[in-house]
Amino acid sequence: MENIRYSIVVPLYNEEAVIDSCHERLLRVMDQLGHPWEIIYINDGSRDRTGLLARQLCASDSRVKLLTFSRNFGHQAAITAGMDHASGDAVIIIDADLQDPPELIPAMIEQWQAGFDVVYGHRVARKGESLGKKVSARLFYRLLHRITDVDIPVDVGDFRLIDARVCHALSALPEHNRYVRGLISWLGFRQTYVDYVRAPRFAGTTKYPLRKMLKLAIDGITSFSYKPLKLGIGIGITLSIFSFCFLLFVFIARLFDLFVMEPGYASLMCVILFFCGIILIMLGIIGEYIGRIFEEVKGRPLYVICDREGSFFRQARQESSQPPENMNKPRSNSSI
Ligand code: UDP
Ligand code: MG
Repeated sequence: MENIRYSIVVPLYNEEAVIDSCHERLLRVMDQLGHPWEIIYINDGSRDRTGLLARQLCASDSRVKLLTFSRNFGHQAAITAGMDHASGDAVIIIDADLQDPPELIPAMIEQWQAGFDVVYGHRVARKGESLGKKVSARLFYRLLHRITDVDIPVDVGDFRLIDARVCHALSALPEHNRYVRGLISWLGFRQTYVDYVRAPRFAGTTKYPLRKMLKLAIDGITSFSYKPLKLGIGIGITLSIFSFCFLLFVFIARLFDLFVMEPGYASLMCVILFFCGIILIMLGIIGEYIGRIFEEVKGRPLYVICDREGSFFRQARQESSQPPENMNKPRSNSSI
């Protein structure tokens, strides 16, 4: 049997209204490519007929596979499971609601064949989404870009193609609150993008209510930046400077009787201002340490190697515990 060239990962949560059209459009695109492919559907605890419909698709075509979650674990968990089970040389992650056009896949494959390991879809416009969603997404992507050290591109979702090596490196990352698009940026490799216009949802309603969107945004910010923890130091120092000036003013006013004060006011103000500043600075310092503990606890490897030439006799530190299976294999892509 020929090796699978392309794996398509499609997360499904209550998508009975779109699954058939999505499947049809994917088939039309994939059958033109002339290489073996697989579609992996992940039923993320749907409560409608999504599971039943996906099982039917699976039964009628051996290239269609289905993973069923025991409950709703969320979009990021669903695409992670899909990537963990994908066996293609290139893995494509796409939403089921046809907001990401399957017809863009050949353009992504072209970039992959030109030697790029990650080809993400860059949204130049978003159609059919509420103004609130557009504005909050715009603000969030820019805020995240500003406060993180990892270069996470703006206006980019999870619709992308990744090489199998990136997929294996990603599977080896142990962290739980995954912000997959950020992790892929963190991994590095050769990345590029193709532009597209994000279409309105084909049918059904969004499965990302405000609660889930906030969780994703908080996962994105806290996994890639501990600047919020450092806020304490900045506020503490600013407050201390301000307090010290005010303290001097109260002290001088008391010394020269510049205005009438209640007895004990000056000493009380001095003590409160002084200690508030100290407490905030200490909180900031503790924040620094917690930030470092957080970095360690995440357990990300120190580095990720994307190619290896020549024979090495020593196994690298993090690889000896969990070797990514095909790290030593050259890219199967014939053009490189
Ligand atoms: N999805 C999922 N689990 C969830 C929420 C969403 O698997 O808990 C899937 C959903 O079926 C779709 C994709 O993730 O294929 C993106 O969701 P949606 O289109 O509703 O998000 P939006 O485009 O509105 O941000
Ligand atoms: Mg959508």
